[in-house]
Amino acid sequence: MCGIVGYIGYREAYPVLINGLKRLEYRGYDSAGIALLDNEPAIFKCVGKVSDLENHINDNPKTGHVGIGHTRWATHGEPNDVNAHPHQSMHGKFILIHNGIIENYTELKEKLGNRGYTFNSQTDSEVLVNLIEFIYQKGKVDAEMAVRLALNKVEGAYGIVVMCADEPDKLIAARKGSPLVIGVGNDEYFLASDATPIVEYTKSVIYLNDQNVAVITQGELVLKTLKNIPLTPNIQQLSMDIGEIDKGGYDHFMLKEIFEQPRSIHDTFRGRINLAERTLHLGGLYHVMPKIVEAKRIIIIGCGTSWHAGLVGEYLFEDLARISVEVEYASEFRYRRPIISKGDVVIAISQSGETADTLAAIRLAKEAGALVLGICNVVGSSIPRETDGGVYTHAGPEIGVASTKAFTAQVTVLAMMAIQVGRKRNFLTDDQYQRYIQELTQVPEKIEKILKLDSTIHKLAEKYKDVNNFLYLGRGYLFPVALEGALKLKEISYIHAEGYPAAEMKHGPIALIDHHMPVVVLATKDHSYDKIVSNIQEVKARKGIIIAVVSEGDTTITGLANHTIEIPETEMVFSPLLAVIPLQLLSYHIAIMRGCNVDQPRNLAKSVTVE
Ligand code: GLU
Repeated sequence: MCGIVGYIGYREAYPVLINGLKRLEYRGYDSAGIALLDNEPAIFKCVGKVSDLENHINDNPKTGHVGIGHTRWATHGEPNDVNAHPHQSMHGKFILIHNGIIENYTELKEKLGNRGYTFNSQTDSEVLVNLIEFIYQKGKVDAEMAVRLALNKVEGAYGIVVMCADEPDKLIAARKGSPLVIGVGNDEYFLASDATPIVEYTKSVIYLNDQNVAVITQGELVLKTLKNIPLTPNIQQLSMDIGEIDKGGYDHFMLKEIFEQPRSIHDTFRGRINLAERTLHLGGLYHVMPKIVEAKRIIIIGCGTSWHAGLVGEYLFEDLARISVEVEYASEFRYRRPIISKGDVVIAISQSGETADTLAAIRLAKEAGALVLGICNVVGSSIPRETDGGVYTHAGPEIGVASTKAFTAQVTVLAMMAIQVGRKRNFLTDDQYQRYIQELTQVPEKIEKILKLDSTIHKLAEKYKDVNNFLYLGRGYLFPVALEGALKLKEISYIHAEGYPAAEMKHGPIALIDHHMPVVVLATKDHSYDKIVSNIQEVKARKGIIIAVVSEGDTTITGLANHTIEIPETEMVFSPLLAVIPLQLLSYHIAIMRGCNVDQPRNLAKSVTVE
């Protein structure tokens, strides 16, 4: 979490930094701040969003060709003006922005306190900037060495950019655990937590690795390790386009991203399906496929929506490839002495590819000798770089904090993997294999059709926007979708919502049902259709309000439910891709009607780079 930006070059830094912060605001929006170095350092920061920062800066002079900026998701110290970044050291020598957590900050703070340091904020970040200054002054070393020496004393995670008042034409950046990208222009450099603030200026980027330090002066970049070993920068070309990170005429990124799904799913399988032969080609798994085919067990790791996609993956791999699967919350897995053996395949799912708990979990799995794969959206992010293989989702940048198109892209990748492995393990016949591939290509069109129901779903939202609770029920492949529907509603509308396997309702949640309770039931035609019809009867008997997502042409449930949303039929294995769409739209409209900020819901942030 937290977005960081930096600029050094011939342009005025301020507009580059402000625009960059706007692009990174999805990573945190508790406070924002900017520091410019133009002879004297100028620091502006305040609680609130980047627009609040702009108002706060107002007509103040903001010149300088070197600068840094930060948008915060608070971990240590409440969101207020003082805790906002950038932080300046006590004697004014250093200014720092930080993404991450300095875990041993209490100990360091005490030591610095004993040497006369006082602190303005409650943050761990201010401790680090003072530690750098202390080493700089005491050790009489240059700024770069002070930064490196300080970082050697730090435990935890950081992506930092530092400026030194004595060396004004310089930015020093370093990372461990938190992402940092350097944009390389002509005689100018950009720094950011991801490439979105950079792409409009240059497509040449360097992804900083853990324990790397970049020292950037006007026109020169020197890359080295924390231990001062020189490195050759690996400059890569971004494939991202500037159009991909704008709202494209929609009111919100979330709505744009919901409507993008026919295209994003197409992009996920594009180039991986040979339509003429009806075969799948997953290039990132080619070299590890024999090991996956032989896997004794698959462990899928994720957090939040990615964990829900993982649950769909469990149904897919067990159903199509007959491999036993466990789905784990990364945060629980890593701290639980999990039993991992050499024949295990671990699949880490993360939109950003930077999720701290997931990253730590794969390191653990790697040490234990498992084959580790990644399903990530952000190209060049940490998880793909640390795994043995994987498949990018290629959904394009997801800016809305509530995940939508990343979920369907993750499920699409898992489906392709399970189909491929199922065929190779001979649990799918050639006919079944080809039928699934054929049907997958039809999914975007079917989603297009569901998106046309937007105004119907809008009306439903109007009716139920003021309730306090929602229940979501589903069976089989649609149970994880029930969880995802509930999560979407609570994260953006702040309505309490629970997802359950439909049959579990009788074991507790049924006690909640009365005539105030909307119950969203995912009841498309599959092998458990009769069972879900009975569950609907049970809700109806308690006077619950039934909103059913059904297959086109359904008459049984239409006669029972208060509202039905008809979606096209598909193979059961792809049903999550269709059934989740109306739930995303329902949450979106309810949240808007309740006056919520759907792209930046309270207390949340995207890319959870803290544990
Ligand atoms: N720990 C820092 C703070 O609370 C940075 C937080 C983050 O990167 O999420 O200000």
